[in-house]
Amino acid sequence: MRIANADGRLALVTAGHVIDVAEASDGRFGPDVQDVYDHWTDFLVWARQVTSAGGTPLDEVRLGPVAPRPRQIFAIGLNYRGHAVETGLDIPDAPMVFTKFASSITGPYEAVALPTESVDFEAELVVVIGATARRVARADAWRHVAGLTVGQDISERELLVRPLAPQQFSLAKSFPNFAPIGPVLVTPDEFDDPDDLEIGCAVGGEHLQKARTSDLIFSVSTLVEYLSAVLTLLPGDLIFTGTPAGVGFARRPQRYLRAGEELVTTIEGIGELRNPLVDA
Ligand code: ZN
Repeated sequence: MRIANADGRLALVTAGHVIDVAEASDGRFGPDVQDVYDHWTDFLVWARQVTSAGGTPLDEVRLGPVAPRPRQIFAIGLNYRGHAVETGLDIPDAPMVFTKFASSITGPYEAVALPTESVDFEAELVVVIGATARRVARADAWRHVAGLTVGQDISERELLVRPLAPQQFSLAKSFPNFAPIGPVLVTPDEFDDPDDLEIGCAVGGEHLQKARTSDLIFSVSTLVEYLSAVLTLLPGDLIFTGTPAGVGFARRPQRYLRAGEELVTTIEGIGELRNPLVDA
């Protein structure tokens, strides 16, 4: 099953169409996209019996973020071997966790203003939590996942390494619109193997990242186990799972985002984000 945020309203996505959930369910489920994760199990039961007939044609440009107001956003650093190597840092023996503040969330096709000339791209698989998770074992982890979506962990590299503000990544990754997600959320059962999806990123038509999520050092299940051992994961929370090799700052010469380019982020079986880049 696929859901989307269409014109700010929760929608089921079927072949080329969207079905407004509040209308189709006669108000049993409201139009608010974020709220559905608090009722995810009931929603799945209802959604699975909806016939694909009807709906309105999918107008991509009207899609917003599939989780517009998560209570918590987790992001994982250095979670692909190739990316750890390109940064010159050691491969971590436990997940390196930081946050992206929620005000940075935006939709799949929104413009991203570049505050400096050292803004970088990070294609990432994003997990949306579908059930409260506290001390969840790895084997039960996927049952707490509503679905997967595409994300960009856009990063301002000067602020990231500013000498007086070391040891935190979160500010540099939280400028407005630095966390595009979408275009849809896809439930785990839709994939042959939700742990093995091709992920890629192109900037200005140049393909700069390509990997498979099976290369993650800490898998989705491991991240849910690790995080939920410390804190409570809440429905609608996001986990940005880390980026593969090929980011701009590790290239020689360095390759940062430029106004006028388009940032395209793709994951097999989910879709792509297409974010135009503009001057701040
Ligand atoms: Zn990242």
